[in-house]
Amino acid sequence: MFDKKFNEFISLLERSRSTVVLTGAGVSTFSGIPDFRSSDGIYSKQYKHLSVEEIISLPLFERDPEIFYSWAKDEWYNLADFEPSIVHIALAKLEEAGKLDGLYTQNIDMLHTRAGSRKVYELHGSAAHHHCTSCRASYPFDEIYATVKSGSVPKCTKCGGVIKPDIIFYGENLDNSLLTRAYNAFSKADLAIALGTSLIVQPVASLVYTTISRGGELVIVNRQSTPYDRNATVRFDDLKEFSEALLAYLKAR
Ligand code: ZN
Repeated sequence: MFDKKFNEFISLLERSRSTVVLTGAGVSTFSGIPDFRSSDGIYSKQYKHLSVEEIISLPLFERDPEIFYSWAKDEWYNLADFEPSIVHIALAKLEEAGKLDGLYTQNIDMLHTRAGSRKVYELHGSAAHHHCTSCRASYPFDEIYATVKSGSVPKCTKCGGVIKPDIIFYGENLDNSLLTRAYNAFSKADLAIALGTSLIVQPVASLVYTTISRGGELVIVNRQSTPYDRNATVRFDDLKEFSEALLAYLKAR
């Protein structure tokens, strides 16, 4: 039913007692979302003479949140217009089949959750949640969306403080307890599957290293080459073909 390479992947998956997945920007761009980091992605665009790295930085947000929101209005707050792809769906089905212990992602677009994945750990945060920078009250995306779209800075209904999305801005540290959880999961994993990530930025590069250095297997699904290609037991180029095969396999099980 499948080719030799995919059969090799299936035998790894069947043998694995603990499988973790890592997804990167390639999985978002497959759904049509602009790549936040590529050279032609939104990070390379200038806005009001500011680089996107400056706009999504904590110092500027604290000084003038209006700049961030007027930029984000047409970028991050369009995320609800995009749909989960076959990649998101196949990974949700993998979890449903009891074959996935955790899905770690660099993406902030909420699409894994919308596809039905439950064990989603968003390393760079998520647009799904917001909080008040003064009293820490939390606000879901849906409550903030209309205010941002109307061109206003969302303010806390309790204290009037500025509301910030729970996305890791430049200059902010990743969530420590989440990182610890990720390192534990990847060090215990028999199998790590990395999809749509170039495995260059931290912490994702060291996460897959943690798996292979402890004797686990690595499977890479990415168009471009990665520094870990030689460490991968199996490597696929095409996200769509891989996801179609995975769905077919899960259905036939
Ligand atoms: Zn507040």
